[in-house]
Amino acid sequence: MPSRKFADGEVVMGRWPGSVLYYEVQVTSYDDVAHLYTVKYKDGTELALKESDIRSQSSFKHRKSQSSSSSPSRRNSSRSRSRSRSPGRPAKGRRRSASQSREHKDDKKKTIQETSLALVVLVLFKPSENNTKRYNGEPESTEKNDTSCIILEQKLKPDLEVKRVLEQYSLRSRKDDKKTEEIFSEKKTFVAVKPIEKVPSKTKELEFGGRIGTFMLILLLPATVLYLLLMCKQDDPSLLNFPPLPALESLWEWRVFGIFLLWFFLQAVFYLLPIGKVVEGLPLSSGRKLQYRINGFYAFILTAAAIGVLLYFEFELHYLYDHFMQFAVSAAAFSLALSVYLYVRSLKAPEEELAPGGNSGYLIYDFFTGHELNPRIGSFDLKYFCELRPGLIGWVVINLAMLLAEMRIHNLSVPSLAMILVNSFQLLYVVDALWNEEAVLTTMDITHDGFGFMLAFGDLVWVPFVYSLQAFYLVGHPTTITWPVAAAITVLNCVGYYIFRSANSQKNNFRRNPADPKLANLKFIPTATGKGLLVTGWWGFVRHPNYLGDIIMALAWSLPCGFNHILPYFYVIYFICLLVHREARDEHHCKQKYGLAWERYCQRVPYRIFPYIY
Ligand code: NDP
Repeated sequence: MPSRKFADGEVVMGRWPGSVLYYEVQVTSYDDVAHLYTVKYKDGTELALKESDIRSQSSFKHRKSQSSSSSPSRRNSSRSRSRSRSPGRPAKGRRRSASQSREHKDDKKKTIQETSLALVVLVLFKPSENNTKRYNGEPESTEKNDTSCIILEQKLKPDLEVKRVLEQYSLRSRKDDKKTEEIFSEKKTFVAVKPIEKVPSKTKELEFGGRIGTFMLILLLPATVLYLLLMCKQDDPSLLNFPPLPALESLWEWRVFGIFLLWFFLQAVFYLLPIGKVVEGLPLSSGRKLQYRINGFYAFILTAAAIGVLLYFEFELHYLYDHFMQFAVSAAAFSLALSVYLYVRSLKAPEEELAPGGNSGYLIYDFFTGHELNPRIGSFDLKYFCELRPGLIGWVVINLAMLLAEMRIHNLSVPSLAMILVNSFQLLYVVDALWNEEAVLTTMDITHDGFGFMLAFGDLVWVPFVYSLQAFYLVGHPTTITWPVAAAITVLNCVGYYIFRSANSQKNNFRRNPADPKLANLKFIPTATGKGLLVTGWWGFVRHPNYLGDIIMALAWSLPCGFNHILPYFYVIYFICLLVHREARDEHHCKQKYGLAWERYCQRVPYRIFPYIY
C-alpha cells in the first residue's frame, strides 16, 4: 500500500493554513514519520501540510465547476475560485487601474456578494499600494485604501465573522486587540493560527560556498587564527610584514593541553550544578521543546571566585600570555576532535533531530555546518554549553591575563587606559550575554544551525583567541589615549550596547510572549506560521538592529588601540563581513518561512543593518 499520495515535484493544490483557500503548490518532500508534505507556494513560502489539506489539481478543477458545492472552497463563485494563488502572489487585480470599466467593478462587487470570508482574506492580501499599507500596520486613520470591497463585505456578512477574519490577517497594535477581546472571547492571532513547523528535509541550498567553500573554511579558519596571533607577537605587525612560521614542536605542550581540558571540564561541572532555573527552548520541528538550565551567570561568578583564589595564592595568570599560541592550538585540536565526535554520533541521530541547514548528505559540508541540531549526552546539551561557557568566559580570563601581562612587562602599577577600556567593554559584553542567557535560545545558532566544526571551532577557538586580539595587541604595542578620547569611545560603546541590548530583548520578549504588556505599543505583521514580525520599535528601524549595535560596539573595542596598525581592527572588519553574510542567510530563511509577510516587512523596513546605507 503506498504510504503517500503525492510525489515530490508534483504540482497540487494546498490549503492555506487558517483559511479555506487552496493554492497551487509544489510538493518538495514528504516526512514518513510525521506524515507531512513539505510544499512550496509560488511566492517561495514553504509549509508542512497534512495529506488531507492537499488535493490534486484535477479534482480541484472538477469541484470548481460544480455549483452546488457545500465545502467552504466550493461555496465560492467560480470567478473567485479561479483566482487560485498563494497569498504571496500578486492578485490579478493588481494590474487593474482605478479607472477600469464599470463592468469590472460590478463583477468585483458581485463576486464579493457571492463569497464568504475567504474573500475577505483575498481582499486583504491583494497587494495594491493601499492594501499593502493596511497589511503592514499603518494606523487606521491613514488608510485611504480601496476598502470598498471590505466595507461591502462587512455589510453582507455578520460582523462577528468578518471581524474574526480581520483579526487573523490585519494588523493593529495590541491595544486594539484588547478592545477586540472585550467583544469576543476569542484567542489572539498568535494562538488562532496554529504554528506549522517545517519538517526537516534534505538541505538542498548549500551555504558558505558549498562543499568546496566549507572545505576551504576548515583549513582557512585555523590558519587565520595562527596568522593573527603570530602577527600580534611581532614588533611591527604591518600587513606586509609577514611573520616567520614557528617550529611545529613549539606549538604544542601537553601541560597546556591538560590545563585547557581542566578548564573545559570545570565549566562542564558548573553547567551541571542544579542551580538556576530550567526553561524550555522554542518548539522543534517535531513540536517537542527541549529544556535548558540557565546558570551561565552563576558559572561566571564561580569562575571569578576561582580566579580570585588563584591570584590570591600568587598563581601567575600571565602563564596564559606566555603560552598563548599553545593554548590556541590546544583549543583547536580539541574542537576538531569534538567535531569528529559530533559528526560520527550524528550519523545515528533520527532524521527529525538533524539540523535544517546541515543535512545535505555531503560529508564535508555536514561536518562543517553541523549535522545534528541539538546533540545531547543525557540532559547535557553540547551546543548550548559551548555557546556561552568555555569560550566566552575564557575570553574574559584571557583579557585579564593580558592586562596582568601588560602591567608586568611594562612595569606598570595600574593598567593602561586603553587596556582598561578594552577589558571593561568586553567584560560588559560577556556578562550581558550570560545575564541574558535565555535569549540565546531564540538565536540562529540554537534554532537553525547544527553543532559541527563551524560552531565548535567558533565557540572554543575563534571567540576566545581572536576576540581578545585587542588586549593581546596592547600588551606588545602600548597605546596612550587621553581622557576625552576615552570618554568619547565609552559613549560610543554605550550607544552600541543600548541598541544591541534593547533590540535583542524586544525580539526575545516578543517571541517568548507576544502578549507581554511591555510590548503593547508595538505593531507587528501576522504571518501564516502564527509568529508575528515586529514593524515598530527597533525592528521597525532596520531589519537587524541588534547587528547594528553589535558593530558599533566592535568599533569601540578597536579604537583604544589607536591607528598605528590595522590588526586591532581585524575584529570590526571581520564582524561586519560576518554579520552582513549572516543577515543574508537569515533573510533567506525568513523569506522561506514567512513568504509574503516577509516581503511586506522588507517593504516597510527597507534597510537591513545600517539606516540609509545598507
Ligand atoms: P537574531 O537574534 O537577529 O535573530 C534573527 C531571527 O529573528 C530571525 O530568523 C527571525 O526568527 C526573527 N526575526 C527577524 N525579524 C523579526 C521581526 N521583525 N520581528 C520578530 N522577529 C524577527 O539572529 P542571530 O542569532 O544572528 O543574532 C543574535 C545576536 O547575537 C545578535 O545580537 C548578534 O549581533 C549576536 N551575534 C554575535 C556574534 C559574535 O560573534 N559576537 C555572532 C553572531 C551573532 P523567527 O521569526 O524564527 O523567530
